[in-house]
Amino acid sequence: MALTGRKITVLGAGISGLTVATILARRGAEVTVLERAEAIREVGAGLQISPNGVTVLEALGLGAELADIGVRGHEVALRDYRQGREVLRLDLSGAAGAYYFIHRADLVEMLARAARAAGVQIRFLHEITGLALEQDRAHLTTAQGAHLSAETLIGADGLHSVVRGVLNGRAAPSFTGQVAWRATVPANGRVDPVANVHMGPGRHLVHYPLRSGDLINIVAVEERRDWVDEGWNHDDQPANLRAAFADFGGEVPALLDRVTRVNLWGLFRHPVAPHWHKGCAAILGDAAHPTLPFLAQGANMALEDAWVLAAALESHDTPEAAFAAYQEERRPRTMRIVDAASRNARNYHLSGPLRIAAHAALRVGGALAPGGPLKRFDWLYAHDVAARHPLVAAPAP
Ligand SMILES: Cc1cc2nc3c(=O)[nH]c(=O)nc-3n(C[C@H](O)[C@H](O)[C@H](O)COP(=O)(O)OP(=O)(O)OC[C@H]3O[C@@H](n4cnc5c(N)ncnc54)[C@H](O)[C@@H]3O)c2cc1C
Repeated sequence: MALTGRKITVLGAGISGLTVATILARRGAEVTVLERAEAIREVGAGLQISPNGVTVLEALGLGAELADIGVRGHEVALRDYRQGREVLRLDLSGAAGAYYFIHRADLVEMLARAARAAGVQIRFLHEITGLALEQDRAHLTTAQGAHLSAETLIGADGLHSVVRGVLNGRAAPSFTGQVAWRATVPANGRVDPVANVHMGPGRHLVHYPLRSGDLINIVAVEERRDWVDEGWNHDDQPANLRAAFADFGGEVPALLDRVTRVNLWGLFRHPVAPHWHKGCAAILGDAAHPTLPFLAQGANMALEDAWVLAAALESHDTPEAAFAAYQEERRPRTMRIVDAASRNARNYHLSGPLRIAAHAALRVGGALAPGGPLKRFDWLYAHDVAARHPLVAAPAP
């Protein structure tokens, strides 16, 4: 389908929305992104971009900028919580490509610059509260009282997606029984480019460097019965974080002592959506498949989706045929990733004899076949959507 001059509306200026908007605008579409926030804001903390996401950014011509704003990860170290003793070390140089630790705000800003350079119009303070779908037109209402219509609508509007609700029926996301504290602290001297995962009963804590190693990103997850408001910006007391991880040893106490501001974030999920499209509308990213963050794939799946969706629109005769092909390709893979992330939560949080046995098996496996544990992730990291779906012309401006 010729994209030149085609009017496409994208809902949400997050990672998936800005990426798909940029690719489509570079193919000649007239793309408008509607975003409820008043600006691209400095929100969020660390994200991990694995080789399957890096290939999309490289195919967009953003590889050098990514290398500049990210910290290239060399290893992942799995550790026991008590003294921080290493259970297994994964050498990321054996992965399918580069692996980066990056601040979400830096990634979103880089994508917003690319989108604007491609001619995308980003309209802030457009919170969509109403959506009616016809076969070839979507009618949108904003909280600010505007009425808009779209020829093609792409819902990149995250966990509480309005578009997902219209395609699948409205349902509130459910609490997963896990909460996460997130904080960044200044680095005290040189920090190795390693993601450290400290695994304890019912809890784990991950830390890795950001921004040239000047900052350390901390994510600390605890299983809980009680419900916490979902959201990215709920402040909590650093003392609560320190109390929850008081029995963690190794580097953890010194890191937590330096925390002065922390957010507490309840982890909520929907199942992977059964229906990703209808008529002129489709969804991608967290709107289609919110995930637990324990495989660090939320942003990477969003990047992959954006590429496959744009390529499908270019290579099919109608949006409906394109959306159907896109869902058929993406849904099984994202389901597999979401399941693997949920399994990681269980494995990280084992207690008692099960934990001892699992850690012993990891140590032995790592010693016998040092590259083996990472090889198990080839299905995830070596998946190159840009090579599978070459776009017809060079995408960089
Ligand atoms: C504020 C924020 C901070 C985050 N921080 C982290 C982090 O630190 N670490 C991490 O691993 N992951 C973080 N994430 C999640 C991660 O970015 C996503 O899982 C992943 O990138 C998928 O992105 P997405 O574009 O599909 O959805 P999202 O990143 O959720 O983006 C959705 C966008 O749509 C907008 N939107 C939603 N509803 C409407 C509406 N009705 N009308 C108009 N606009 C709407 C939102 O404001 C947002 O900009 C964060 C997400 C958000 C929104």
